[in-house]
Amino acid sequence: MRFAAPLTELQNKNLIDAIDALLPQTQCTRCAYPACRPYAEAVAQGEIPINRCEPGGQEVIDKIAQLLKQPPLPLFHPHRPIQVAHIREEDCIGCARCLPACPVDAILGARRWMHTVITEDCTGCDLCLASCPVDCIEMLPPSDQWVLPDPALSRARYQVHLWRQEMRRSKRVHDQNRAERRAAMIAKARAAMQARKSKTA
Ligand code: SF4
Ligand code: SF4
Ligand code: SF4
Repeated sequence: MRFAAPLTELQNKNLIDAIDALLPQTQCTRCAYPACRPYAEAVAQGEIPINRCEPGGQEVIDKIAQLLKQPPLPLFHPHRPIQVAHIREEDCIGCARCLPACPVDAILGARRWMHTVITEDCTGCDLCLASCPVDCIEMLPPSDQWVLPDPALSRARYQVHLWRQEMRRSKRVHDQNRAERRAAMIAKARAAMQARKSKTA
C-alpha cells in the first residue's frame, strides 16, 4: 500500500539525501526500518508515512511534510522522553555483547573488562539493552548539560560501525576458509600417507 505519490523527479538520491538529512540518525529502528537511511528511502518512494520517526518527533514530521509538499501528520508512536544508557559497572561481566549492538559505537570496553557508555555519543536508542545477559544496562534521564549528538556525527559513527562489522565478517570468512583449506590439505596428506603404507604392506 502506498501512502503518498511523490513526483517522479523526487524519487532520486537527492530526495533521499534530503529526507535523511532531516532525521536524527539515532539508527534506533523504531520506524520499523533497520536504520534512518532505509526509512528515508521508503518515505521517498511513498511506501511509508512520514510520521514514523519517533525520536524526531513532530518537528521532523513537519520538515519532511514541507519538503514533500504534503500535509503534516501527527506522530504515529507516543513520544518518549529521551534517556541515555548507563552501565552498572559493578555488575558488568565483560562479555562485550553490547559492543556490536550499539549502532554508533558509544560503548567502550573489551572482553573480560568492565564496559562503560560514552554518554555524549549515546543517542538513547536503547538497542544495547537486549544484548546484555545480566541486565546491567539501564536507560536514565540525561544530565541537564547533555545534548543529542549531532546527527551528522551519529551518521558517520554508524557508517564506521557498519564498516567495522563488515571487516569482522570478512575476517571470519577468511579465517574459516583458511581453516577449511588447511583441514583439506591435512586430510589429503594423510590419505597419501595411508596409500603409501598400503602399497608397501
Ligand atoms: S531515528 Fe527515526 S528514522 Fe532513524 S531509525 Fe530511528 S525511527 Fe527510524
Ligand atoms: S549506548 Fe545503547 S542506547 Fe546509547 S546509542 Fe549505544 S545502543 Fe543506543
Ligand atoms: S553486555 Fe552487559 S555484561 Fe556484557 S559487557 Fe555489555 S554491559 Fe557488560
